Amino acid sequence: MARDAHFDTRAVTHGEGRRRMAAEDVVVPLHLTSTYEIDEIDPDASLEDLDPDAGEYLYSRLSNPTRNALEHRLASLEGGQHAMAFASGTSAIVATVMACVEPGDHVVAFEDLYGGTKTMLSRLFEERLGVDVSFVDARDPQNVASHLSEETTLVWMETPTNPLMRLCDVAAIADLAHDVGAVLGVDNTFASPVLQRPLELGADVVVHSTTKYLNGHSDSLGGAVVTDDACLASEVQFLQQVGMGNVLSPFDSFLTLRGVKTLPLRMERHEANAGAIAEFLAEHPRVTQVHYPGLPSHPQHDLAARQMDGFGGMLSFEVDGGLDDVAAFLGSLSAFPLAVSLGGVESLIEHPATMTHSPLTPEDRAALGITDSLVRVSVGVENVDDLIADLDTGLAALR
Ligand SMILES: *Cc1c(COP(=O)(O)O)cnc(C)c1O
Repeated sequence: MARDAHFDTRAVTHGEGRRRMAAEDVVVPLHLTSTYEIDEIDPDASLEDLDPDAGEYLYSRLSNPTRNALEHRLASLEGGQHAMAFASGTSAIVATVMACVEPGDHVVAFEDLYGGTKTMLSRLFEERLGVDVSFVDARDPQNVASHLSEETTLVWMETPTNPLMRLCDVAAIADLAHDVGAVLGVDNTFASPVLQRPLELGADVVVHSTTKYLNGHSDSLGGAVVTDDACLASEVQFLQQVGMGNVLSPFDSFLTLRGVKTLPLRMERHEANAGAIAEFLAEHPRVTQVHYPGLPSHPQHDLAARQMDGFGGMLSFEVDGGLDDVAAFLGSLSAFPLAVSLGGVESLIEHPATMTHSPLTPEDRAALGITDSLVRVSVGVENVDDLIADLDTGLAALR
């Protein structure tokens, strides 16, 4: 723009433009543009041929350098070729399921899924889109096998699950799903790719709520899909960019890129702290049960040791008492804010029956094993002695 342009023109465009972006950044910058200047019109151009890796950008819903950098990093961590970053874990999951099913198809899903996913599968896919969904106890792969049919196009798993830390055998279920030509999708939010890489175990697609461990600082909502399957990737990408237009913003991509740098360090501390807390709770006379895959008493401890590279930072436990006791316990804690969500550096505690799992009927909660005395903890990276001392004080408040 000419230097002698008018003030109100210079206010809009002076200093903008591609030549200004040649700084040799060491970290990926927050790239906030909605659109990109192109060299010339091209009669043969198609949107699908845009190659962000070659610097070809057109519009930020399609691709954006900050989001693109995050997508590459997440693909690399999960060991896949293709990654797509979404505005939430929920949108990553709905796009993946949408890419795999049509009306009349059948889905087999773990009955112990994240609440929102279970509701999505029932209310959107079953009730509105004519997809048949079987919810099964996938701790035993035979229960998956016995529900698979010719119509099954998708098997949907989470491991470990929320809040009871149940596991499923990804490699065994992958074989079963592939026998009927179905895709196996795994929500890897609880473990993170530090501790578990489902694609290596045979899954076809992995999803994350990056809101949790990947971002790790409780200040961004996001989701991601990673796969090696080029067909599936292009369908998910169509939904991300065009079918839903549901992309992770540059700012959230930037935060998540920054958060992911310390993921391995954080997971180490989350796990060390969770292991110590699980042992403390298991010994405490006012705790009746602890659900943590790292405890040898966990019914699937061997599977966890085989399938995962660590046991993670999530656990749940039952206090000896009813709703009033739980309320007294939670009310007397000071190191554990009472809040949903998980995976941040700060510890959080929540009460599934009245918080995350309150949309379920009491009968459904009972069938899953979610009692009124169950408490879930996302163990942070604080000094573990402070955390244990606080839990000790809380348990002393039980009548
Ligand atoms: C939080 C969560 C989701 C949903 O992700 P959002 O980012 O909240 O949309 C899905 N699966 C699991 C296991 C989760 O913990």
